[in-house]
Amino acid sequence: MALEEYQKKRDFKKTSEPKGGVEKRDVKIFVVQRHDSRRLHYDLRLERDGVLKSWAVPKGVPLDVGVKRMAVKTEDHPLGYAGFEGTIPKGEYGAGSVKIWDKGTLEINKWGDDEIVFTPHGEKINSPYVLIKMKSSARFPGENNWLLFRKKIR
Ligand code: MN
Repeated sequence: MALEEYQKKRDFKKTSEPKGGVEKRDVKIFVVQRHDSRRLHYDLRLERDGVLKSWAVPKGVPLDVGVKRMAVKTEDHPLGYAGFEGTIPKGEYGAGSVKIWDKGTLEINKWGDDEIVFTPHGEKINSPYVLIKMKSSARFPGENNWLLFRKKIR
């Protein structure tokens, strides 16, 4: 089940985040949420297979070409999460405030296991971006570490 991990982590009696389900739609969306949690970060979410594939980007989505940012893969979120803003109560998973930083429609240009190219059509970001999966290393162990950067257009 695509959203099992998302739902397991949350108590929907206590948090106002959506419980959600898997949906299929023609026009895809993206959202970037500013999440002022234990550590401030930005959550990049891309619609794929009826859910929002998600990465936590500690320093935020780069606006300039040539800037690479760390992006840590997190659990899939329901599509309804793209509209979520508010406060996750103290003691709950991800406690803190969530605000939409940018959102809009999404083009997927390539979706591979190790490389994703996508074009968000938002107000702050509106050009192709690349996500590259990093190989597990001593410094960055595990399978969830990616790099996010703006694609160079010639
Ligand atoms: Mn987050």
